[in-house]
Amino acid sequence: MKTIIEPFKIKSVESIRFTTPSERKKILKDAFYNTFLIHSQDVLIDLLTDSGTSAMSSEQWAGIMRGDEAYAGSQSFYKFESVVKKITGFEYVIPTHQGRAAEKILFSVVGGERKYFPNNTHFDTTRANIEYTGAEAVDFITEVGRHPEKRADFKGNIDLIELESFINEVGPDNIPFVMLTVTNNSGGGQPVSMENIRATKKLCDEYGLKLFLDACRFAENAYFIKIRERGYESTSILEIAQEMFSYADGCTMSAKKDALVNIGGFLAMNDEDLMMKCRNVLIVTEGFPTYGGLAGRDLEAIAQGLEEVLEENYLQYRIRSIEYLGEKLLAADVPILEPPGGHAIYLDAKRFAPHIPADQYPGQSIVCEIYLQGGIRTVEIGSVMFGKYDKDGKLIPANLELVRLALPRRVYTQSHVDYVAEVIIEVFEKRNSLKGMKITYEAPILRHFTAKFEYI
Ligand SMILES: *Cc1c(COP(=O)(O)O)cnc(C)c1O
Repeated sequence: MKTIIEPFKIKSVESIRFTTPSERKKILKDAFYNTFLIHSQDVLIDLLTDSGTSAMSSEQWAGIMRGDEAYAGSQSFYKFESVVKKITGFEYVIPTHQGRAAEKILFSVVGGERKYFPNNTHFDTTRANIEYTGAEAVDFITEVGRHPEKRADFKGNIDLIELESFINEVGPDNIPFVMLTVTNNSGGGQPVSMENIRATKKLCDEYGLKLFLDACRFAENAYFIKIRERGYESTSILEIAQEMFSYADGCTMSAKKDALVNIGGFLAMNDEDLMMKCRNVLIVTEGFPTYGGLAGRDLEAIAQGLEEVLEENYLQYRIRSIEYLGEKLLAADVPILEPPGGHAIYLDAKRFAPHIPADQYPGQSIVCEIYLQGGIRTVEIGSVMFGKYDKDGKLIPANLELVRLALPRRVYTQSHVDYVAEVIIEVFEKRNSLKGMKITYEAPILRHFTAKFEYI
């Protein structure tokens, strides 16, 4: 097989700025060793997130010019709505300014005290929006999904046995709907199989429950189904996506992921009564139903992005880029979460730097060293992000200590990825000299965004 190439050519470029090691040392110190506090112009390759960082196509930019900015009845809305309906099959589509706005609207309508929302793994904004209403967000990942070193095709699957016993425990009346996150972002970008989606739907039907998809990476999930699940080898991505959505009653979506745009999202569903309630909240918090929280031009760009993301050449390049980076790291014995997921590689900091205990944040130390070594920005997904304190102020560490390398869509080329692998391997080779860190400032919630650190 020949090299899988980037399925695009480059029409417009943006320079990236090279810094010297001594400049980076100062930049990192001035940012209190928190990569969220580094200015982007000081970053050579930015792998902080794949959210809202996609490169748009010339057709999307053309859509930006075509955007119909009418307050009501915008042509751009109808175009957007028809593409979303074609892919999801849902009756009603509500545009929002990003994924969490869709979540906020939905959960403010169906959430509340003594309500429970099961999911394979809730993304952090989903969990926060559920808990904000007083409801509970509960995760049911399968056993294999909990082990970073174990390989399986569909580590994002929900555990149906645990889900069923939970439904019996709290009672179906207290569960407004079950959710599946495709792919499972917090679980390493791991896909959910069609078989698991179908079986979840069957279980939901038995208990009279609705099923919603958190569809942010639906196309990446569909591609994994195509290449890994028997019977889908010659099914188109569109048809796979349509089947995935056919088992659900609605979805939330961040267009900043698989709609290949920099801002946007939507909420879609079949239930008219629920839609009316959501639409009323939309009008108060986001905007009129034919633009939601967006401009007409954004709706045009999303409509076009949703078509492009279904192209098999694009998805093959996308998934292969991540896998390629993973293979290079594994060949040098760098411990990563296996197998590589759809949008990111996660370094396993516990095995990468076993000499640093969890309360000295091994992931953060690795993140800093990767920046110092090569100007690459990554993010800790471990005890800095999810750690809590017990009543004596002692850290309760996160289950996993990870460092995420998220690849923006269509932004970097193979040589960028080669460079990233070289830098990580260099850091790994001198891992014994990595030092533990301590937090010198932290906010009471979501501390990772603004925390300050020092080396111990
Ligand atoms: C990004 C994301 C969200 C939230 O979307 P935003 O556009 O960032 O508000 C929700 N769920 C998942 C799985 C995500 O990856």
